[in-house]
Amino acid sequence: MAGRNHLYIPGPTNIPNEVLNAMHIAMEDHRSPIFPQLLTPLLQDLKKIFRTETGQAFIFPATGTAGWEIALTNTLNPGDKVLIYRFGQFSHLWAELAKRLGFDVEIHQETWGKGMPLDKLEARLKEDTGHEIKAVLATHNETATGVTSDIAGVRKAMDAAKHPALMFVDGVSSIASIDFRMDEWGVDGAISGSQKGFMLPAGGAFLAFSQKALKATETSTYPRCFLDLQDQMNTNKDGYTPYTPNLPLLYGLRKALDLLLEEGLENVYARHHRLAEGTRKAIAVWGLKLCAYPGFESDTVSAIMVPESKDARHVISTAFNKYNISLGAGLSELAGKAFRIGHVGDMNDVSMLGAIAGVEMALLDNGFDIKAGSGVAAAIEYYRGTAK
Ligand code: PLP
Repeated sequence: MAGRNHLYIPGPTNIPNEVLNAMHIAMEDHRSPIFPQLLTPLLQDLKKIFRTETGQAFIFPATGTAGWEIALTNTLNPGDKVLIYRFGQFSHLWAELAKRLGFDVEIHQETWGKGMPLDKLEARLKEDTGHEIKAVLATHNETATGVTSDIAGVRKAMDAAKHPALMFVDGVSSIASIDFRMDEWGVDGAISGSQKGFMLPAGGAFLAFSQKALKATETSTYPRCFLDLQDQMNTNKDGYTPYTPNLPLLYGLRKALDLLLEEGLENVYARHHRLAEGTRKAIAVWGLKLCAYPGFESDTVSAIMVPESKDARHVISTAFNKYNISLGAGLSELAGKAFRIGHVGDMNDVSMLGAIAGVEMALLDNGFDIKAGSGVAAAIEYYRGTAK
C-alpha cells in the first residue's frame, strides 16, 4: 500500500527523523577515552526527565519488564512482601513477575478503568504495624486501560500511614510524556522504557533510584548478575558500562533528550494533554466510552470500549488492512471489548487528526452508528481553539 503505515499504538511510538538520523552511526569503541563524553551527560540529563536531583539514573540494555525486575531484585530480599493493586494488564504482569521471582506478593484486585485506590492503600499500610510490606508497586499509567494514577496521592497515603516501605513506580508509559516528579513525590524507584515518551526503539530500560533505594541495595541478598545496579554504579562513575552498550540507542537518546529538554517538560506534558483531549472530544461525539473512569483519563493512551454487539478486533483489522493505520489492541480482559489510540511521543494535532479520521472510517465500515466527520470536526474545533 502506498504511503507510510501510521502508527497510533501506545508504544513503540513514532521516532522523530532527527533521532533516526542520530542512531545511524558507525560502531565505536565503548572503552575509548571519549566514550564517557556520551554516557555521563546522558545519565545527568535523564535525571532531569525523571525530575530528580537527589536520585541516580541508570540505563540498561533491556526493556520495561527488566525495569520491574531491577527494582525488586536489587533492593529486596527473597520472600519479602510487596503490595500491588492490579487494575490492568501491566499491573497484572508486574505482580506475576514478582511472584515468579519468589516475592510474597499481596495482590488486591481493583476495577479495570480505575487506578491506585488511595484510601484502601492508606488503610492497608496502617494495618501493617509490623512493617512486613517492604515495597508498594504502583503503575502510574496503566497502558492497557488508559488510566493514570495519582502518585503524589500514593506518597501522601504512605506518609499518612507512616509506613517505611519503598515506593516503586512503573512510569513506562508516563515518564517523558506526562507529569512525573520523582523527588517531589518521594518515589524510590522509577521505571521507564525507551519506546514510548522517549521516542526511541525498544531496548532501553531507563530507571532512577532514590538514595533510600540505593541504600537498600547494600543489604539486598537477592542473587543478580546482568541486572545488578552495583555493576552499573561501579562503571558508570567513570563514564562506562558493565557490558557492551547499545550505541545507536545511546546516540538516539542523546537526540531525544535534546528534543524533550528543548521543548521543555511542561510543554511536553501540555502537548500530550491537548492531543489526548482532542481525541477524547472525538470519542465523546461518537457516543463511545473510555475504559477509564472520570478523573483517571490518561494523556498518553485512550482505551475505547465498543458496545457489546461489536468486536473491537474488527475495527483494528479494518483500520490496518484497509487504511494502513495501527491501533492498539484490547489486552487480556479487554480483548475484543476495546481498542486503543496512542497519543504519546512524536505527535502533533495533524497526526492525531489522521488517527481520528482513520478510526472514524473503520468504525463506519463496521456498522457503528456515527456520523462521518463528526469526530474529526470535534477534534478540529478543539485543536484550533487551543493551538498557540
Ligand atoms: N509497564 C507498562 C505500563 C507498559 O505499558 C509496558 C509495555 O507496554 C511495560 C511495563 C512493559 O514494558 P516492555 O514491553 O518494554 O518490557
